[in-house]
Amino acid sequence: MIFVRNLILTLFLIGCTTPSGIDQKDVKRILETLSSDEMQGRRTFTPGIEKAAAFIASEFEEIGLKPIDNLSSFYQRFTATSVAIKESKVVINNKLIEKNNYFIRLSDGDISWTDTESVEVSFINTNDDFGKKASEAFARNGNLLVMVSTEHKDIFNRYRSYMERPRIVLPTDSESSANLVFVLMDTNAIDQLYVEASSAAEEKQLANIVGKIEGNKKDEIVVFSAHYDHLGIGKPVEGDSIFNGANDDASGTTAVIELANYYKQKGTPERTLIFATFTAEEIGGFGSRYFSKQLDPDKIVAMINIEMIGKPSKEGINSAWLTGWNKSDLGEIMEHNLDGTEYTLYADPYPEQNLFYRSDNATLARLGVPAHSISTTQIDIDTDYHQVSDELATLDVENITQTINAIAIGAQGIVDGRQTPTRINPDEVKR
Ligand SMILES: [Zn+2]
Repeated sequence: MIFVRNLILTLFLIGCTTPSGIDQKDVKRILETLSSDEMQGRRTFTPGIEKAAAFIASEFEEIGLKPIDNLSSFYQRFTATSVAIKESKVVINNKLIEKNNYFIRLSDGDISWTDTESVEVSFINTNDDFGKKASEAFARNGNLLVMVSTEHKDIFNRYRSYMERPRIVLPTDSESSANLVFVLMDTNAIDQLYVEASSAAEEKQLANIVGKIEGNKKDEIVVFSAHYDHLGIGKPVEGDSIFNGANDDASGTTAVIELANYYKQKGTPERTLIFATFTAEEIGGFGSRYFSKQLDPDKIVAMINIEMIGKPSKEGINSAWLTGWNKSDLGEIMEHNLDGTEYTLYADPYPEQNLFYRSDNATLARLGVPAHSISTTQIDIDTDYHQVSDELATLDVENITQTINAIAIGAQGIVDGRQTPTRINPDEVKR
């Protein structure tokens, strides 16, 4: 009897202590909480994201993290200005332009143009590259009217639906003085012009949730990060209207919490570890932009950002990819540290998607920090990406656990101060 009982006890203990050191049950608990309907899709500026923030802060507290310097809690609060166009009217060549055929960006305040004297006019013709011409316009200052050929209607509409959302301005942003009006209309001359538009600005509160484990070296920092916001509630699809964002990016947020717990258990690290979960990634990466300006980039040895690790990568389970592989040797270091394990790390297989620039690592990368994102998602074929179907049931929790474990093993030498990745050359990073 006793033998059998001991055997059962032994088996029970083996079952509990996963070889990874990261507890799969705990991974599931955190994922379940963050992606539950109660969090209402964690959209920035909604009560749903507040709940997610409170949950992450309570996890950090329980783990025993400390707030970072200059903060008294895990909340890194900041204010953004949200600028929305209130009223507008556009008449060109004596024709009243329908709302669907123009969009406006104001730097601040109102505009009233009654002739082309103080306005520069440019044309995007049929054979022009719309994207290139549009970014040139967005880089300008002053008053600019851009007339767009109706041949570019589809891309114009994509820009318009983006531009009609309120514009978010951070206190750390440099002020723009551009007033832009894009009009979809076939013409090559402006004979008459009347544009009137007013904007309303509103102050809005945001918060990243950030904690640290202070190492022996306070001036050498390793950042582990992910974004905790998602898309919120939208139009119902088969009765479901909540964008749970289980993969994007509850999975990465879970990894950050688990890594905090893992390293805390190991005692004081050589380098200081910062665990950051960002707000407002989905609406423009504002959380990480703010965070990145609060630290001295020269003190950050590496940033490992974790984006969508919910499903096996195209190379199968036990593998993940890293964006911007050749920009520093962080990927090589981590891959080397994983030698002898079942896990492999490889270069981003979707370079055409520009994912290196599309996630929260980009701001610090531009400042020279070896800042990269790790992911496993098959972004080209994932039918749940940015859909209400991005739910826990579609995720492989065992593989997520292995991925978090692999990040812990891969980063160990950097945490210990034995390995230091090369810096990114800011000149090789697109603005
Ligand atoms: Zn994401």
